[in-house]
Amino acid sequence: MTNATTARTGLALHWKVLIGLALGVVVGLVMNVAWTQATWQSLGVNDAKAFLSGAASAEPGANDGATFVAHASAFVSQAGKFVGDLFLRLLRLIAVPVVLFSLVAAVAGVGDFRRLGRLGGLTVGVFAVTAVLAVMIGMVLTSVVRPGKFVDAQTRDKIVAQFADAASQRVASAEKFGNDNSIWTQVVDAFAANPFAAMSSGNMLQVVTTAILLGVGLTLVGDGRRRQAVEMFETLAEACLRVVGLVMKLAPYAVFCLTAAILANLGWSILAAVTVFVVTTIAGLALILFVQYPALMYAFTTRENRMTFGRFFKAMAPAKLLAFSSSSSAATLPVTMECTRNLGVSERVTGFVCPLGTTINMDGTAFYQVMCVTFLAQLFGVELSLAQHATIGFMAILVAIGSPGLPGASIVLMVFVLDAVKVPTQGLAIIIAVDRVLDMCRTVVNVAGDAAASVIVASKEGELATEAAMQSQTQAAADSR
Ligand code: ASP
Repeated sequence: MTNATTARTGLALHWKVLIGLALGVVVGLVMNVAWTQATWQSLGVNDAKAFLSGAASAEPGANDGATFVAHASAFVSQAGKFVGDLFLRLLRLIAVPVVLFSLVAAVAGVGDFRRLGRLGGLTVGVFAVTAVLAVMIGMVLTSVVRPGKFVDAQTRDKIVAQFADAASQRVASAEKFGNDNSIWTQVVDAFAANPFAAMSSGNMLQVVTTAILLGVGLTLVGDGRRRQAVEMFETLAEACLRVVGLVMKLAPYAVFCLTAAILANLGWSILAAVTVFVVTTIAGLALILFVQYPALMYAFTTRENRMTFGRFFKAMAPAKLLAFSSSSSAATLPVTMECTRNLGVSERVTGFVCPLGTTINMDGTAFYQVMCVTFLAQLFGVELSLAQHATIGFMAILVAIGSPGLPGASIVLMVFVLDAVKVPTQGLAIIIAVDRVLDMCRTVVNVAGDAAASVIVASKEGELATEAAMQSQTQAAADSR
């Protein structure tokens, strides 16, 4: 996708998306600083939130004096939201079919249980190693930096009061999961009572298990018919990815709109109050992204076909930029798969590892759980024993497996980890206050982790094409156009 776009327009898609992101950051920051409550008031708007959403204000007549400029500004803001929302909706529309078709094709395509077992074992093994490393980075960082000690009790109580409602909403959502969140229940819940309901509600874990079982079923069908079915699923998966190619034409504009909107509404004063926590979290995520993954890929690829830093980051740029601006690894999945194939990973490994990874491999999320829970424990003066640290690490990985790849998804499940080590759940208010920016960053890590795991698995399976082979393939595709 990246290179094809380059051939046609002269500017690769990731550059266009990067320009959209940079412009979004600049415009969002300028709006944040320059367009204040007073600006709205000077335009005759006293309840900007209601005015922008088109709803009636709770204070009657608050927006009756809105000027033409106020209406025009609201229109621009709504149009921007429309572009961002439409783009994400289209990607999410594709996400469930992509998981289903690619995974069935990948599992059934293997064709024999021994090879399938090896591929599955290797993939889950790589996921486990990267998750444990990410959790350990979180543990070391929080105990060395101790970010909770940098926030005084007064600031803590102020933020807790300000975001109390949002926090209790998350606690209430967590309660809906029921009290039984044992590993037994989680395993049973991974299987759908009704696969169509799982698909319609977008329950990715259940879609994944359904697809794997269907693939296994196809493996038991005679070879000829199995191959026909694999071909059909491959064609459907390819069709979905073609649709993604079309949707991605919107990406630079959508990324601009999404980023500008987030930054325009960001509360900087709260970010500043918990700077040490925010900076430590971003540093840890950077460590996973720029050190852990490249080091693992370096170690597990052959000298003749090394996955270098530049090769990885260049091919993955569109997926990472999209993950950053959407905060959704599920919505990014179709693009992640395209980029992973551009890295040289075979169709089969991409189709197996990426959908599985989007669902159960979230290193950024696991790391984040550890950071948040230990930060809040420090902030509320809860001393954690070694066993409690181990509990946090273990539960962080479970949360990362159970979280859907959606914006802010893992915050709800954090309630269980906080409860398990007796850290007050009202502390969630502080995390919610700064979550959006950190969500953007951890989603990039989640997406990069799936691609890194695909590279390692492909290399071990002998299914990683060299950089030169990928370049000549791209050139041939461009020439034939
Ligand atoms: N937003 C994250 C993702 O989509 C999930 C989370 O940690 O909230 O990967």
